[in-house]
Amino acid sequence: MSITILTAYDERPDGTGDLVYRAGGTDLQERLRTTGATPHILDLTGVPGFARVERTDAGTTLGAGTTVAAVARDLVGDYPALALTAAGLATPQVRATATIGGNLLQRTRCWYYRHPHTSCFKSGGDRCPARDGRHLYGVAFDTAPCVHPHPSSLAMALLTYAATIDTTHRRSLAVGDVLGDGSDPSRDHLLAADEVLTGVTLPPPVPGERGSYYRSISRFEAEWPLVEAVCRVVRDDAGAVTSCGVAVGGVAPVPLRLRAVEDLLLGSRLDDDTVSAAAHAATEGADPLPETGYKVHLVEATVREVLERVRS
Ligand SMILES: Cc1cc2nc3c(=O)[nH]c(=O)nc-3n(C[C@H](O)[C@H](O)[C@H](O)COP(=O)(O)OP(=O)(O)OC[C@H]3O[C@@H](n4cnc5c(N)ncnc54)[C@H](O)[C@@H]3O)c2cc1C
Ligand code: SF4
Repeated sequence: MSITILTAYDERPDGTGDLVYRAGGTDLQERLRTTGATPHILDLTGVPGFARVERTDAGTTLGAGTTVAAVARDLVGDYPALALTAAGLATPQVRATATIGGNLLQRTRCWYYRHPHTSCFKSGGDRCPARDGRHLYGVAFDTAPCVHPHPSSLAMALLTYAATIDTTHRRSLAVGDVLGDGSDPSRDHLLAADEVLTGVTLPPPVPGERGSYYRSISRFEAEWPLVEAVCRVVRDDAGAVTSCGVAVGGVAPVPLRLRAVEDLLLGSRLDDDTVSAAAHAATEGADPLPETGYKVHLVEATVREVLERVRS
């Protein structure tokens, strides 16, 4: 059977139970190559408004097809934490093609899942071979049956903005409504098979907001981070933090918003003691696997780095 590519306007042929959507294709094409799957593909790129950026008094809406490169380039003034995260992921070639919708809905990068001859929860099986096998890049917060971290860097950044997501079926979903909490190990997101993500809405930009992003990574680029963190902060004239958002990725089944860290930052002037206490608080609840203890140290160091960057 060969791969069939449909546009959004084509009639679906019979037997399209295994139909999948393609946006930039940077995740999907690699999965088809490694697994040898041959589904019907519905190409979303021609849908009107797919890549729109709309600014209104109520906020900024990005069409699901807005590229990661456009997020990095066009939002850096208004939403610096999100733009810096977008600029820091993957490679220039991937960022030019990958979309914000595809980034949120990409599948796990676990090497067992991506192996054509291995079965696990996420490929329809009933076990997690990584848990008792190799999981060097696994979670440091072991809260769910699947022990590989969620791959989406943009989901992590969108958490700090309390962004909302629209689909063809539902409106104003929180990032957590779309990704879930990881308790269903067969899913990377909770959208229905026939549900298309249509847009992401950010609240109005806050004047004077500063943002920072940092990833601890095993090579310079073209790799998923071991641990990544993002921070956005607004300060008053005296330097006190009036609002903030901090999140971490690469360490849990879903990106984590760090409320305990935010509580320590609010009202502070980001002095050394506060930064140290907040970075340490980022590790609260960590429960590493045998091979991921190193990530707990990286969480503290990575969060410290974003806090130091945002105050400088
Ligand atoms: C070398 C390399 C390094 C990378 N590093 C990072 C990183 O550090 N952080 C990170 O976040 N990502 C990273 N990525 C992944 C990359 O960001 C994703 O592949 C990309 O964002 C996916 O977007 P896409 O538009 O190409 O999605 P596609 O490949 O087109 O789709 C991905 C999945 O989402 C579904 N889908 C896409 N759009 C929709 C929609 N609108 N509605 C419903 N379903 C949809 C598809 O069916 C598919 O299952 C890296 C990739 C590479 C190759
Ligand atoms: S960590 Fe998740 S994706 Fe990897 S083998 Fe286990 S269940 Fe599958």
